[in-house]
Amino acid sequence: MSRGRPSSNIRTDHFYLVEEENTNANKYSTLRQMCKYCNKDVVDLIDRLKDHLNKCSFFPYELQESTDLTTSKSHRNNNMSQNDKVILDQKLAQFFYSAGIPFSAIENLYWIDFIHTIRPSYNSPNHQQLANKLLDDAYSQERKYLENRLENINNISLVSDR
Ligand SMILES: [Zn+2]
Repeated sequence: MSRGRPSSNIRTDHFYLVEEENTNANKYSTLRQMCKYCNKDVVDLIDRLKDHLNKCSFFPYELQESTDLTTSKSHRNNNMSQNDKVILDQKLAQFFYSAGIPFSAIENLYWIDFIHTIRPSYNSPNHQQLANKLLDDAYSQERKYLENRLENINNISLVSDR
């Protein structure tokens, strides 16, 4: 079983060690850490700390991308291959284009929170990707699809309703 990369800085970057005198020594056999963002007290196990950051509503968005929050559990159950990522990006983009949703919505904090909750290992694209590469891909895919359909029909009638 993969244990993931060691992330020695998760503890010191995002948590304060809860001092012994503040804890009930009988109640807690393991050390505890306090989240710097919401002050919640979490058992000092790397997966538990990462799990907390994955869920923490106060964990700053700009730090999420640079922090490896993959837990050994998510490695097992939630692994994201490059291929999965490509397919998810395309499906997501298609939803944005078909519903006419402004591209900036993809960086909405509640959206990011929703995505991380259902699939912690998936980082949804940013609005530049949505406006450039993903849009180009969707366009050429749609074009290919239409060309195929037009090639395979024998006659076509165009009707103007103006
Ligand atoms: Zn927190």
